[in-house]
Amino acid sequence: MIRENLRTVEDRIQAACRQCGRNREEVQLIAVSKTKPVEMLEEAYACGCRDFGENKVQELVDKYERLPKDIRWHMIGHLQRNKVKYIVDKVYLIHSVDSLRLAEEISKEAVKKQVTVSVLVEINVAGEESKFGTTAREAAALVEEIAKLPNMIVKGLMTIAPYVENPEENRLYFAMLRQIYVDIIHKNIDNVCMKELSMGMTGDYETAITEGATYIRIGTGIFGEREYTSVQ
Ligand SMILES: *Cc1c(COP(=O)(O)O)cnc(C)c1O
Repeated sequence: MIRENLRTVEDRIQAACRQCGRNREEVQLIAVSKTKPVEMLEEAYACGCRDFGENKVQELVDKYERLPKDIRWHMIGHLQRNKVKYIVDKVYLIHSVDSLRLAEEISKEAVKKQVTVSVLVEINVAGEESKFGTTAREAAALVEEIAKLPNMIVKGLMTIAPYVENPEENRLYFAMLRQIYVDIIHKNIDNVCMKELSMGMTGDYETAITEGATYIRIGTGIFGEREYTSVQ
């Protein structure tokens, strides 16, 4: 099932790239494996996946220990400051930095472990109350502050768009994220190397690609529906 799903996703990524004249290489697929067992990640790995996304620290660490070391782990979920220390030396990219306090903690732990951590700043472009992320207005100032911290690089921006039936409804939000990104690039902030836009999930990744996504985060479309139990 995973192999076929990956093929379908790949075909659709290629079609979206063709439609807007982008190179396939500009878009990196992240297989979002949260809640899924290690065996399913191994299957995706066997199909060539090397980028996996998780949203819980403990789960990311467990899977990190059990799976091959050439996997690039993406932390895509809300991150609590007291858990930063467990992942700074294991993650390839943290997509969900939404406050200076969190960034300071990441920087502090990165210095301690002598690593450099790449991060994206998460923006709640639609202003949904239920979602984490800084506001569009505060984004540039936050990027500027984070860029001053040691052992940290701001690589770009991330957003989680609203859940919609018709992906076209999210085009506006993807375009907004890209605009914020372009505005920040034009500020030429020291130590900021903005080149990534993490946006688009199973329901709307083609729209995100046509609006400039460089990372798309796909869970259901690869691994199938998630089952959440009350005890996690
Ligand atoms: C779960 C999750 C995804 C993947 O969602 P699907 O709709 O299953 O593709 C992407 N991004 C984030 C931040 C997530 O938490």
